[in-house]
Amino acid sequence: MPESAIVKYLCGKLGSTNREELVANLDFGDVSTVNEIISNRDRFANAHYNGEKRLIAKTALRLCRRLVCAGPGCSSLHLCKTYLYGECQFVPGRRAKCSFSHDLHSEHNARLLRTHGLEDLDKKEICVLLLQNDMALLPDVCFDYNNTGCRDGCKRIHICEQYLRRNCCCSRAHDFYEPQPFEMLQKSRIPNDLMASMKQLYINKKVLSSIEHKAKQAGQANQVPGTVGAMDGAMGGVGGAGGAFAIGGAGALRGGGGGMRRPPRGKAGTFI
Ligand SMILES: [Zn+2]
Ligand SMILES: [Zn+2]
Ligand SMILES: [Zn+2]
Ligand SMILES: [Zn+2]
Repeated sequence: MPESAIVKYLCGKLGSTNREELVANLDFGDVSTVNEIISNRDRFANAHYNGEKRLIAKTALRLCRRLVCAGPGCSSLHLCKTYLYGECQFVPGRRAKCSFSHDLHSEHNARLLRTHGLEDLDKKEICVLLLQNDMALLPDVCFDYNNTGCRDGCKRIHICEQYLRRNCCCSRAHDFYEPQPFEMLQKSRIPNDLMASMKQLYINKKVLSSIEHKAKQAGQANQVPGTVGAMDGAMGGVGGAGGAFAIGGAGALRGGGGGMRRPPRGKAGTFI
């Protein structure tokens, strides 16, 4: 099914890709077919940032947070988070036994993957998809750190929000390997081989959380036909300087809003 193929493709590209390139990719069908497929707002989100139109993979699937879950009625994946990210050191039979499932294709999980049209994705692709969609997985970027300043012991991540949007040379952290971001990500069990993907995954997460937030505020306005452009808007955040991310449903890709700052030519691909 082309829709699943596009989701799989996006996950292989760290969860998002240049929208125009994807539409021009004949592997997924002609332009009108692809445009129709990616108009499904349950599975795709459009973003316009850093001078580029991006298509981001969405899912409603989440990881179950319960150590002991009632089971059949649960609509979330039953999977060890550490195993999802890579390898869980507590492999059953070795050391202490991990309390969580390491079976992505258990009956419960396989049913959910089919329900969400994700049965063709491998563990790595599902990991990317969940990291940017399940807001409980990656620690949030600290608002205080980006504004008035924060203190030691904060559980949010101290990284410059401007850096996620465009090149920045302020005094805040611009590297996920800086001590505080690195420690927070280690505590969240992000393995080293995912560290290089953090910037793009955080951008995708930020765009998707903004869409979710706006949808709640607008009373699910994004579900109503004829509201093209209604979701366009700026990312909340640093000092009201939002606007670097303009978001919208398919077909609603506009000029990026008033706050949009187009970077110099040649730098549009900074975030790819
Ligand atoms: Zn559960
Ligand atoms: Zn485990
Ligand atoms: Zn903080
Ligand atoms: Zn900065």
